[in-house]
Amino acid sequence: MDEPLAIKEEESVAGSFENAGSFFIGIFNPTVYRCPCCRSVYKVILGPGDIFLGEGRRNCSHCHKGFRDRSKEWPVLTSLEQFFYLFPTVVCGWVLFALIICGLLAWSEGALGTIRIALLTASFFVIPLMAWFAVRGYQIARSIHRFHLDRSAKAA
Ligand SMILES: [Zn+2]
Repeated sequence: MDEPLAIKEEESVAGSFENAGSFFIGIFNPTVYRCPCCRSVYKVILGPGDIFLGEGRRNCSHCHKGFRDRSKEWPVLTSLEQFFYLFPTVVCGWVLFALIICGLLAWSEGALGTIRIALLTASFFVIPLMAWFAVRGYQIARSIHRFHLDRSAKAA
């Protein structure tokens, strides 16, 4: 039984920002996934990264039709896909932004400011990143769990 494949669109909300670097592209060019039957949006991902975890199919919450939603479980992703799932454009942009800010501060404050810079970096940049990896880790753990449940259900 082959269900229809979801519609995937790369929206350009702010095309004029496209030259402002990958950080802004990640924020303003979300990838939108729609139900193939009624076109209602069921998933929005920031940036061109098109990987999200799931069982590979779902039922539309509007028209209740089943379709393949383009999701995959963590164990079947390639290592490149796993890398981009953990480090999408937005996160790479964030890290780059943090490095530039720290570089500028270190340059303007001199050696004495190093501790202050370290504290600032920790609170301002590392905490959101830690939250990000905590959420991602949880999603990956759930995906692996679903994957093994599904396999044991099929084997039974
Ligand atoms: Zn639908």
